Amino acid sequence: MSDRNPSPAGGPLVEGPRDPEHDATASYALEPEYAASLTRRVLATTGRTVEVRSPLNGAPLAHIPQSSAEDVAAAYARARKAQQAWQRVSLDDRAAILLRLHDLILERQDEIIDLIVWESGKARKHAFDEPLHVALTARYYARTAHEHLDTQRKLGVVPGLTRVEVNRVPKGVVGIISPWNYPFTMALCDGLPALLAGNAVVAKPDAQTMLSALWGAQLLEEAGFPADLWTVVAGPGAEIGPELVARSDYVCFTGSTATGRLIAQGCAERLIGCSLELGGKNPILVLRDADLERAAEGAVRAAFSNAGQLCVSMERMFVADQVYDRFVERFVARTEAMSLGASLDWGVDMGSLISQQQLDTVTRHVEDAVAKGARVLTGGRHRPDLGPYFYEPTILEGVTPEMTCFGEETFGPVIALYRFHDEADAVARANAGEYGLNASIYSQDGARARAIARFVKCGTVNINEAFAATFASIDSPMGGMRQSGMGRRQGAEGIHRYTESQSVATQRLLRFGPVLGMSDATYAKVMTANLKLMKKLGRA
Ligand code: NAD
Repeated sequence: MSDRNPSPAGGPLVEGPRDPEHDATASYALEPEYAASLTRRVLATTGRTVEVRSPLNGAPLAHIPQSSAEDVAAAYARARKAQQAWQRVSLDDRAAILLRLHDLILERQDEIIDLIVWESGKARKHAFDEPLHVALTARYYARTAHEHLDTQRKLGVVPGLTRVEVNRVPKGVVGIISPWNYPFTMALCDGLPALLAGNAVVAKPDAQTMLSALWGAQLLEEAGFPADLWTVVAGPGAEIGPELVARSDYVCFTGSTATGRLIAQGCAERLIGCSLELGGKNPILVLRDADLERAAEGAVRAAFSNAGQLCVSMERMFVADQVYDRFVERFVARTEAMSLGASLDWGVDMGSLISQQQLDTVTRHVEDAVAKGARVLTGGRHRPDLGPYFYEPTILEGVTPEMTCFGEETFGPVIALYRFHDEADAVARANAGEYGLNASIYSQDGARARAIARFVKCGTVNINEAFAATFASIDSPMGGMRQSGMGRRQGAEGIHRYTESQSVATQRLLRFGPVLGMSDATYAKVMTANLKLMKKLGRA
């Protein structure tokens, strides 16, 4: 296990005899009792289970109990009861639990990173981003709890006589439906502000990556969140997902645009709110004054983090003509220097895709592009020698609109390069298509890059960085424009979505309407004069 600390209580992995013929992972297995201690947390009474296997080497991981519609109903009944007590707990006490969670995650990060790698197949350095992001989110919301949730005084219509306050009232029970690509942070990060705001959560993580999500649920309880405040259900999204939509007071969904549309329809029917974090076809722009080494380093992370299975990763790259050849040489060299492998240890630059389905999509996109005339500058091959779903980091040139990967999200380690002569044209091409999640601009002139950013139709724009600068800056909102989503996670918007704003106005002394025998006509005149005066006084 090299420089990883052994996980507490034996941790999730048991070590078997080393086989020099095979990769390190082959000699580890997930400890069955450990897996069972997590899967017991699923609220399921059907007696049915589904086996999940590791994408690293196909080893069995666990049998996940499957929830029925009745189980989902029971989860909501428990959550509603727990929420009623929880909303009476003081904000300071709720925030203190979040800070305890922060510490627990950092203390036990090796355990969760092992689980994430084992379950998702990603490289350890990409798995590390997950506890990091959850800890950042926990600290941020704990420390800004009062700023976001305290009752605020507002201007009353009659100065001095109308006292107005706005309360932030919890929505109730929030349904969180999350994907497999960042199985720990996507399952947890959106729920933390929901809990802080006084809600309960029913979570439905993706079926392929339940263990990381269940580990998160266990840690929430260890940190001090009451039982039943966070209940996990499991099952195929198309079967139990609609049950969550039917019972939630608000739905937070992360996943594909197609499913997001279904969720939005279900929520519209019930007139409840939802936030949708969806797909992207994210562009990166390298301007002629970019630091090319920095841009090439960023491009590798932009395109190949978690083997490209990252909503904010880049699949289209527009490079200024003047620097194109020099940039491409550096980008290809850095990509070819990457190490690939199925390992739980540090030192691997890219891991596996998660499933046969992902491998099929990536293979189909690359084969289609090549058949229609695209050139593969590097990569372009399935690598079954490393593990069942490994695919090389791939750079394409000459991608045209007839090719599937021109506009469709690949969600894999494939990026297409395009030259540009004119920056306005590059921005127009970056804005083409239906998505608008994340963009990146490389330039040594920060002010010029920031000016360009205003014309890029994406919810986040990173300058001289791929995606981490916006994603890890929890104080600022993160989300998609156009088909990439609705609503925002993080920042004030990321917590206010889980509250209803309630205005409470207390009227003192004078009531509204004519007083002291005044006629309606006189009252209208007095009010009109009052309006004119207020404007003169500069009042909002
Ligand atoms: P998906 O939409 O198929 O699944 C996501 C979740 O929705 C899973 O938990 C799934 O079980 C559930 N689900 C499926 N059908 C459902 C239904 N009818 N009702 C309710 N729930 C249902 O997405 P995927 O293909 O597994 O995930 C990859 C996609 O997610 C990519 O398009 C990626 O860009 C996107 N994504 C976006 C973000 C972001 O923050 N914007 C983050 C991660 C992934």
